Amino acid sequence: MSIQANLKEVLADLPSGVRLVAVSKFHPNEAIEEAYTAGQRIFGESKVQEMTQKYETLPKDIEWHFIGHLQTNKIKYMAPYVAMIHGIDSYKLLVEVNKQAQKCSRVIPCLLQIHIAEEETKFGFSFDECREMLQKGDWKELHHIQISGVMGMATNIDDTEQIKKEFCSLNTFFKEIKRTYFTDTESFKEISMGMSHDYPIAIREGSTMVRVGSKIFGERNY
Ligand SMILES: *Cc1c(COP(=O)(O)O)cnc(C)c1O
Repeated sequence: MSIQANLKEVLADLPSGVRLVAVSKFHPNEAIEEAYTAGQRIFGESKVQEMTQKYETLPKDIEWHFIGHLQTNKIKYMAPYVAMIHGIDSYKLLVEVNKQAQKCSRVIPCLLQIHIAEEETKFGFSFDECREMLQKGDWKELHHIQISGVMGMATNIDDTEQIKKEFCSLNTFFKEIKRTYFTDTESFKEISMGMSHDYPIAIREGSTMVRVGSKIFGERNY
């Protein structure tokens, strides 16, 4: 199947209100152009250098979402253009994004990555670490970032019930912090969850943004 046909298939699964981040990491510009021609405008990348090269060479109305693990020294390269950063998992990173965003006179939307999977290897705040960070309140002084919601990855397994439980826990946590810290913040509204193999479950559990790569672009060679 072609990229355009795959893209259409994924889009047909999304209810209104759920946006697609087409994860184009490790795929060349030609693949992105094919999806772009079909109307896709939001793309997700996990390496700053790769994303920046693509940003510089592809149409400027693309929204670039950074979904990878953040390194403090690389934030400056994407600060001028990145549309959303999905993987914030420490207060220190928020401070650094804020600093670089300020230099470009921007406000960068950020999602708090929460560790919901059983696997040890996935990044993210634990629920308690995130509560503690928000409770401290220092983040309220960071005027060049906007905390727009949460992001999570489920355990990479076939057990549908387990995946569902993990996504459900992220939705419950989203509601808790919305109620506690962001009731009047309209922009705090995103639950970024769901990848190629589990996005239908994520949608049923309240996802507002799915990050789908291989189902659109094919398997990655890395
Ligand atoms: C690679 C990646 C995806 C997309 O994964 P697929 O299985 O190819 O859909 C989604 N989210 C994150 C954080 C990723 O690193």
